[in-house]
Amino acid sequence: MKIGFIGLGIMGKPMAKNLINAGYELTVFDMVQANLDEVVAHGAARGSSSKDVAEKSDLIITMLPNSPHVKEVVQGKDGVLEGVKEGTIFVDMSSINPLVSQEVAAALAVKNVEMLDAPVSGGEPKAIDGTLAIMVGGKEEVFRKVEGILSIMGGSVTLVGEIGSGNVTKLANQIMVAGNIASMAEALALATKAGVNPEKVYQAIRGGLAGSTVLDAKAPMVLEGNFKPGFRIELHIKDLNNALDTAKELNIPTPITDQTMKIMQDLKQDGKEKDDHGGMAQYYEKYGRVQIRK
Ligand code: NAD
Repeated sequence: MKIGFIGLGIMGKPMAKNLINAGYELTVFDMVQANLDEVVAHGAARGSSSKDVAEKSDLIITMLPNSPHVKEVVQGKDGVLEGVKEGTIFVDMSSINPLVSQEVAAALAVKNVEMLDAPVSGGEPKAIDGTLAIMVGGKEEVFRKVEGILSIMGGSVTLVGEIGSGNVTKLANQIMVAGNIASMAEALALATKAGVNPEKVYQAIRGGLAGSTVLDAKAPMVLEGNFKPGFRIELHIKDLNNALDTAKELNIPTPITDQTMKIMQDLKQDGKEKDDHGGMAQYYEKYGRVQIRK
C-alpha cells in the first residue's frame, strides 16, 4: 500500500518517519520546506502539492493544525480532491471540529473515497516512540483495512464510532488534559508558597490517587521551568474552542473548561501561546507571586 502523508510538523514528522522505518513507501508534503526536507532525507519521496500526493497514494494521512487547514488540503486548489483515485482511503489524524470531519468525509464520498477521523493523544514523545493513543471514527470495514498501519504509530488504536467520533473523543481528552494541568499547577503553586519543596510534593503524591500521566509528563517540565513545546497553548485553545462550541450545541455545562480557557487566554495575552501547555503553571506563578521550581 502506497502512503501519502501531508502535514509534517511536530507530530507529523516522527509519525511519517515511523511508517518509513516500518518499510512503507511514502510520498510526503508540507508547505514548510525545512519540514519536508527532513522527512525526504529520511527516505520519503517529495510531493509537490496535496494533489500530487493524492495521485501517488492508496492511503492518504493528514496531520494538520485545525479544521480550516484540513478543508484547504482536501478541497482547496491543488488539493487532495483534485488528485485522488476512487477507492483511496483518507485518514485525518489532526484534531479538528467533529462536524468538519463529517463535511470533509461527505466531500470525499463523492469521489468514492472513504474517510476515517483518527486524532491522537500522547504528544511528541509518544509520536517518536510510535505509542500514541489513536481514537478513530468511521466505518468498521475501512478501519480494519488500515488498523495495522495505524498500529505502527500508536500503542492503542480504538474504533469509537461513526465518522466524527474520533474527534468527539479527542475533545473529551483535551477537556481532561487542560483541567489536569491546571489543577496540578494550582496544587504545586500552593505547596511552594506554603514553603514545601514542589519536587518533594510531586514525588510524594505521584504513586497515589492524584498520580497521572499528565502529572508525570508535565510536573518535571514545570519544576525545571521548561516550557518548550510539545503541545502549544495555541493548539490547546483551538481544541477548547471546538469543545466549547460542541458543548453549547449539546447544552452541556462547562465550568471547568471555561476556567482553563480563561487561563490559556490570559497566557496568550502575555505572548506565551507558543509555550507548551505545561506552561499554564506560569498563570499561577504570575498571580500567586511564586516560582514553582525544584
Ligand atoms: P504543527 O503546527 O507543528 O504542524 C502542522 C504542520 O502542518 C506544519 O508543518 C504546517 O506547515 C503544515 N501545514 C499547515 N497547513 C498546510 C497546508 N495547507 N498544506 C501543507 N501543510 C500544511 O502542529 P502539530 O503539533 O504537529 O499538531 C498537528 C495536529 O495534531 C494538531 O491538530 C494538534 O492539535 C494535534 N496534536 C498535537 C500534539 C502535540 O503534542 N503537538 C498532540 C496531540 C495532537
